[in-house]
Amino acid sequence: LSKKVEMTNWETGNYINYAKMSENLNIVRQRMNNRPLTYAEKILYSHLDNPHEQEIERGVSYLKLRPDRVACQDATAQMAILQFMSAGMPSVATPSTVHCDHLIEAQIGGEKDLARAQDINKEVYDFLSTACAKYNIGFWKPGSGIIHQIILENYAFPGGLMIGTDSHTPNAGGLGMAAIGVGGADAVDVMANLPWELKAPKVIGVKLTGELSGWASPKDIILKVAGILTVKGGTGAIIEYHGPGVDSISATGMATICNMGAEIGATTSLFPFNDRMYDYLNATKRKHIGDFSRTYAKELKEDQGAEYDSLIEINLSELEPHINGPFTPDLATPISKFKEAVKANNWPEEMKVGLIGSCTNSSYEDMSRAASIARDALDHGIKAKALFTVTPGSEQIRATIERDGQLQTFEEFGGMVLANACGPCIGQWDRRDVKKGEKNSIVSSYNRNFTSRNDANPATHAFVTSPDLVVAMTIAGTLNFNPLTDSLKDKDGNEFKLKAPTGDGLPANGYDPGMDTYQAPPQDRSQVNVAVSPTSDRLQILEPFNAWDGKDATDLPILIKAQGKTTTDHISMAGPWLKYRGHLDNISNNMLIGAINSANGEANNIENYTNGEFGTVPGVARDYKAKGIRWVVVGDWNYGEGSSREHAALEPRHLGGLAIIVRSFARIHETNLKKQGMLPLTFSEPADYDKLNPDDKVDLLCTELAVGKPMTMKVHPKNGESYEIKLSHTFNEGQIEWFKNGSALNTMAKATKN
Ligand code: SF4
Repeated sequence: LSKKVEMTNWETGNYINYAKMSENLNIVRQRMNNRPLTYAEKILYSHLDNPHEQEIERGVSYLKLRPDRVACQDATAQMAILQFMSAGMPSVATPSTVHCDHLIEAQIGGEKDLARAQDINKEVYDFLSTACAKYNIGFWKPGSGIIHQIILENYAFPGGLMIGTDSHTPNAGGLGMAAIGVGGADAVDVMANLPWELKAPKVIGVKLTGELSGWASPKDIILKVAGILTVKGGTGAIIEYHGPGVDSISATGMATICNMGAEIGATTSLFPFNDRMYDYLNATKRKHIGDFSRTYAKELKEDQGAEYDSLIEINLSELEPHINGPFTPDLATPISKFKEAVKANNWPEEMKVGLIGSCTNSSYEDMSRAASIARDALDHGIKAKALFTVTPGSEQIRATIERDGQLQTFEEFGGMVLANACGPCIGQWDRRDVKKGEKNSIVSSYNRNFTSRNDANPATHAFVTSPDLVVAMTIAGTLNFNPLTDSLKDKDGNEFKLKAPTGDGLPANGYDPGMDTYQAPPQDRSQVNVAVSPTSDRLQILEPFNAWDGKDATDLPILIKAQGKTTTDHISMAGPWLKYRGHLDNISNNMLIGAINSANGEANNIENYTNGEFGTVPGVARDYKAKGIRWVVVGDWNYGEGSSREHAALEPRHLGGLAIIVRSFARIHETNLKKQGMLPLTFSEPADYDKLNPDDKVDLLCTELAVGKPMTMKVHPKNGESYEIKLSHTFNEGQIEWFKNGSALNTMAKATKN
């Protein structure tokens, strides 16, 4: 175990530390009286910052962890790196990579789309590539592929712990790595050497028996599980697959299953280390890692008798192919019932577009099986009836299927091969075949199918399924086709049935790496200048926030008293605003524009107390800021639920907010506010929310801030007597320092300098 094995072939000096992991695990085992552990627990506990003292109760404690790696995609990396830069550290403390995949729009096909994206996003790519070079981060250029595929091919290893700034980071579970999607703020912490906090997840076991065959594929396992658990069923839990059925699934198939576990809200999903993973490591030039994992194999699976918080059993021999959707990934219908469901629900029968690939389903195996079906059709003289697109997950996959012929089959079949990027999966799709608002159906092998996700058309019925079924239905051009039972007509009008798909799990002649799309950090990084144009409207260097002035804050206006739900989408809207996610001042123009003002029931229309005029929320906040007036926001229950978007905390801080005072917080948003030096406070008496008027002024006795003690707020109503109420908070000692220093990053920067 003490052997030195590099984590990846792309870096030097970053070793897989099974010795340390084993040592940590033994400490925790002793503390737990050697009770049997799940694999998920083993990975987490072996990465504890302090295995001796960490409190551990599944579903209750907050674990402080030391992840092995960080991965960021280009959309979320911008603000994460800008924040990291403001800490003033010379390089990242944890091995990190950045992947350019989200900003490439699908229009006319791979090469041209990529060239256009390189042009449109030049300043973002230049910033990311120079910042990566400066701070010792591996940079995967546009065209290299989708983050999760690149991670699986190059960085994931059994027993590892990784965080990634993207929801589908769990894909690396296909190689037995616990890979967890986080917000940018968490990534910044780990890059800057802070431990990372995670509520000890519950563990849901999925026991697989039997064997996959015929049209059933790994995707059908997760489509079925999504149907059972629904979009909320995995929340706060790690889904751990185990049982004899596991061995019939390829490593990339396991990755597909883990990837889409994000759709049921799971923290991550995991498979135990097995020979299929070893084979994949071997095929991707990491046999030495596979051999090393074998020496630690005992800890790379669950202990015998490990207990799960709940258990699901699936017999793969009986598993039917499924199609999930429309509009939600947990509406699971087995193919035998799908025709009925289409009719009963009046879903548009004609299938307009079939889309395969994406980070979920673009392995060599997926492509080979899909191509075998397309070839079968071509052999009968027929082609795709619906439009058909292929998104290779990586340059390596694209080059390999080009060499081995699958790509040509897809093109002959009538398909368009898109860039190695997210494309239509994230709405980067210049779709022309239907008009906005026109009801229609599309079927993809992607993972997510919420309204408007792919083409911004709310009338599009998007279904997700295996690549196999996508191709079969593309041939028929209708949702009413079941390849297991129905026949097609060949070019002469004779009926035939499609053969069940076949294809190699791994390329017999090895992978072709294709074009070189990786940029390693240079040896001498001191001379690198990070490229940010001062006139850019998409990128802006962050100035550190001011430290606390050490005084109580008096006479603060309530910027807005929000009523009802205030999610992170209300606080920092997505959509067109995503363009500005690297420019704090510009994106702040969306601050709280979706929140409902309790004074008038309207969104983005609030009174400016200094002049009595009504204006937008960001507009009024800017006016206060210009006049040197700090302000607070008042909100209702579960304020900040939704995503972990750190912009929702950065924006109020940037525009001069001091405190957010609510009945309760979504925890991640609460932590994000603390990190930015804001005061997230809750009414000790929730009913006090009702007492406050939007035009009251308040004093916050910040000097009272201490662990476990409430803070006093004096309320000065416009007409009436002043009174006091108590506000609670969850600050610990370290977090109080964040407030005092102005932010968590200021605190880290201070520590680095000392
Ligand atoms: Fe996310 Fe889709 Fe890209 Fe995968 S392909 S990373 S799901 S946008």
